[in-house]
Amino acid sequence: MSRDAIAAPWGTRTPYGRGEVWPVRVDMHLADGVTEADVDRWVQSASILHSNGDALDIAVKDGRVVGVRGRGEDRVNHGRLGPKDLFGWQANRSPDRLTRPLVRRGGRLVETDWDEAMDLVVRRSQDLLAEQGPSALGFYTTGQLFLEEYYTLGVVAHAGVGTPHVDGNTRLCTATAAAALKQSFGCDGQPGSYTDVDHADVIALYGHNMAETQSVLWTRILDRLAGPNPPAVVCVDPRLTPVAREAAVHLAPRPGTNVALMNGLLAEVIAHDWVDHDYVERHVVGFDELKEQLATWSADRAADVCDVPVEDLREAARLVGTADRLLSTVLQGFYQSNQATAAAVQVNNIHLVRGRLGTPGNGILQMNGQPTAQNTREAGADGDLAAFRNWTNESHVADLARVWNVDPMTIPHYTPPTHVMQQLRYAEEGSIRFLWVQATNPLVSLPELHRVRSVLSQERLFLVVQDIFLTETAQIADVVLPAATWGEKEGTFTNVDRTVHYSGKAVEPPGEARPDLDIFLDYARRMGFQDKDGGPLVHWHDPESAFEAWKECTRGRPCDYTGLTYDRLQGGSGVQWPCNDRSPDGTERLYVDGAFWSAPDYCESYGRDLVTGAPVSQTEYKALNPHGKAVVKYARYVPPHELPSEEYPLQLTTGRTLYHFHTRTKTARAPQLQAAAPEVWVEMSAHDADAYGVAEGDLLEVASPRAAVQARLRVSGIRRGVVFLPFHYGYWDTPSGHEPDGGARAANELTVTEWDPCSKQPIFKTAVARVRLLERGDGTPSAAPSTTASRSVRTGPPATAGGPAAAVEEDVRARVAGGAR
Ligand code: SF4
Repeated sequence: MSRDAIAAPWGTRTPYGRGEVWPVRVDMHLADGVTEADVDRWVQSASILHSNGDALDIAVKDGRVVGVRGRGEDRVNHGRLGPKDLFGWQANRSPDRLTRPLVRRGGRLVETDWDEAMDLVVRRSQDLLAEQGPSALGFYTTGQLFLEEYYTLGVVAHAGVGTPHVDGNTRLCTATAAAALKQSFGCDGQPGSYTDVDHADVIALYGHNMAETQSVLWTRILDRLAGPNPPAVVCVDPRLTPVAREAAVHLAPRPGTNVALMNGLLAEVIAHDWVDHDYVERHVVGFDELKEQLATWSADRAADVCDVPVEDLREAARLVGTADRLLSTVLQGFYQSNQATAAAVQVNNIHLVRGRLGTPGNGILQMNGQPTAQNTREAGADGDLAAFRNWTNESHVADLARVWNVDPMTIPHYTPPTHVMQQLRYAEEGSIRFLWVQATNPLVSLPELHRVRSVLSQERLFLVVQDIFLTETAQIADVVLPAATWGEKEGTFTNVDRTVHYSGKAVEPPGEARPDLDIFLDYARRMGFQDKDGGPLVHWHDPESAFEAWKECTRGRPCDYTGLTYDRLQGGSGVQWPCNDRSPDGTERLYVDGAFWSAPDYCESYGRDLVTGAPVSQTEYKALNPHGKAVVKYARYVPPHELPSEEYPLQLTTGRTLYHFHTRTKTARAPQLQAAAPEVWVEMSAHDADAYGVAEGDLLEVASPRAAVQARLRVSGIRRGVVFLPFHYGYWDTPSGHEPDGGARAANELTVTEWDPCSKQPIFKTAVARVRLLERGDGTPSAAPSTTASRSVRTGPPATAGGPAAAVEEDVRARVAGGAR
């Protein structure tokens, strides 16, 4: 059967009950006029426009990508695809792809060849290394390259250049997930599995609009909700999201109060003694202190701070406190908000005090946003050491030096890795003079854009941008390197629940665009990086040999890939790490036996003070946790930095919509996705809209203490006193190119330069704001989609639909041969 995947993004229900296997439904979209019979070949891959890791095959005809089809045999999606999977591939074929390197001459970017472009990059690197040393160079990467590319980048930056200034845009996305896992379990690594959805009695989503960010995983929950013994959903979100609409309890706290909310929930759990004392005794440290500190909290106090009905908070506590099988997921509503890590850790605490971890249905998914964010973290391209080694543990540094055959002193570990906000600061001060940005667009995605533009466009900063399009950031670069993308290169990547997928090369990249791996290998060769015996530091030459090198780096570490090969990953389902001799089929859930990766000599991190971010020393950690149990930690609630005032009476939260990814560089080039959400909008509650005398479609100015933007109004189900702006809309598709000319529209013009003390994740959810009417609408509704959290609570705006161009074939089969787990 066929569906409009814009109007019905989650597709047809295939209900199933607790403990049953999620039925297969294979979704397919092919370019207009192409049928399955016309396709020359199908090339195995997985989705690249979110973190879910939906397995798919790329359809190729006459050397071009012509569509995609879900892989029914894969454990992640059982064949289903979301709107961005189904339509996003069209961006690859865009006529405005970068096809030749560009260099700045006379103030303008002009085409050149690879030799000249790389020569410039290498010469500037060498000059700065000679003049100022490694800390003059910084690298800012992404969550969208492949594992082999990050690993190579990590080796090049850490052991070749020797700089501590390495980070990824995963800092904006999943840094708090990693930090929260390290705090509680001593190590990154997702405890849970998507299959926990199949078993859970209660699913709690904290600041996680899964329906829009991981639409296929939400489909799995919708199918449980439509089947026998459905789970109860608890939703924490200030917006009336599709998740909230399905929830048994929806808590919409005041932005910035997540820690208070979690303290209230935990206080209730402990007050009712919904505690698994045996589990706590055997596997957890810190419980007595947590209990003591929580004595000052109650449901009433939390409800008051968060401004939510106390009976709803109590009911949420009862659900999470009494569930036999509890699955929790967390995303940006926590990660990008005040006290991010502290709040995310409290979710882990609930599972630990309740002993709800490591068995079917009992899982935690501290989510990622990007398709390969997990790999950025594992491979050390976010600044951490490769394979979850602890940069403050000398023996881990020595071990990595052994793997890389370099002197341990080559690997920067004398100072914490420099997160991107600090890199910006160093560039502002002039100590970072070279910044190499890959597949990310900080001129739209970082907070306080006016400042970001002024820092990155400084004359003294040499800016290299490696991308597939001339983004806002590429437009101000000194050198632009055209990259190949998904479908044009080979590699592997890992999703939220540790499933590793292989992605094949389906077509040639356009023009002279090259895979990111080739660019890094070329840089390493031209720079002449050597190991301590004079051999090449980077001794691999293609994706598969890079993967083999990575496997050796992971041997014996938590993210052990040694049981995987390219062959093994092709033909069937993706496989969850760790996969090694002990777990040759991969590992569905971590910590099944309550044994954590937190032993002092094995753990990735000794943790931090949740409120100040001060690191815990090795000695302190050994005293706290000598035997490697899980750690529960209390966090005092601290109100957000900016609070509403008479001048700025509202709070601003930014976020995403189902139909776009990041700064729309790909999704705006997919006609169906762009048509579904073509322009920025601002959301206000009906109460606030009435108070301000404004209505659907009116043009508003939204201002914060830093800047103002313009957007048309959507009256949505958002909580009172809060306005929402999607952050996808920058300037590359406006006449001004990379910055506003007149009315600004990028949400990050307004956000604040501030970050979480533990994860260093910038805060996008708690700026203050005010609005004023600029121009009455003419009756035309704003461009906000109606299928999502931006659905109008008033009558008028038409339903979002994609029409025939968005038609998708759904094939609901009983089982695929071999069966998906
Ligand atoms: S939009 Fe945010 S959460 Fe989503 S992938 Fe990007 S950085 Fe991550």
